[in-house]
Amino acid sequence: MNVERAMVIFAHPDDAEFGTAGTVASWARSGIEVAYVCVTDGSAGSNEPGVVREELAEIRMAEQRAACDVLGVEDLTIVGIQDGYVELTLDLRRALTREVRRFRPDVLVAPDPTRYWDDSRSYINHIDHRTVGQACMAVANPDSSTRPMFPELLAEGFEPHELPYLWIGTFGAEADTYIDITETIETKIEALRCHKSQIHDWPVDEWIRDRARERAEGHGFEYAEAFKTFKLREREEERRQADEASAGDSGGQGRG
Ligand SMILES: [Zn+2]
Repeated sequence: MNVERAMVIFAHPDDAEFGTAGTVASWARSGIEVAYVCVTDGSAGSNEPGVVREELAEIRMAEQRAACDVLGVEDLTIVGIQDGYVELTLDLRRALTREVRRFRPDVLVAPDPTRYWDDSRSYINHIDHRTVGQACMAVANPDSSTRPMFPELLAEGFEPHELPYLWIGTFGAEADTYIDITETIETKIEALRCHKSQIHDWPVDEWIRDRARERAEGHGFEYAEAFKTFKLREREEERRQADEASAGDSGGQGRG
């Protein structure tokens, strides 16, 4: 996959760090420009009595910025919908389409719109994750690529953009692409630790390592992140490369 720009859209501050920050860190290191779009303000991320949403939102936005600094992500947009209340609306689709048309990523990394729970049935997926995943599917087709969608964005100067690739971070079974994060797992953990209001003294280190090790099993890496991937549009240079035969996927990633 030949990528120069990647965008990660997610629901809550810390989602991207838990999910795909190892991949993001390795992309950033290799010179790929990465943008983050955080849909909510994170203001429901505490069960402590007396916590004020507005105050928590400020803390969590600062934590997200700190995590971006660790990862080398300079472009952070916060849509600012109240945590827990994300709905699949035209406003949300428009807001995300604006970001995609502005940044024009080669790959969009999105939450899984089909995940209601995890395989062990010990976790019900947060509805914000799923809803943002659904909105991202709508952005991939038809919103970002189709000129008559959201004509007001044209007036703002945002021309249609066809996404070459869509990647969905996944828990495992449906994955088709495994990214080696052995070199960046420390950076992922450091970025995750920036979310102090969420991590507290939880031994996140171990938890992240265990999951990354599980995902790497059978793929020849120590640690991995897993994705299911869609190729929506073939880029010119890839067509050329394919014509010239040979060549598999570039740098440190395996399919299988
Ligand atoms: Zn979340």
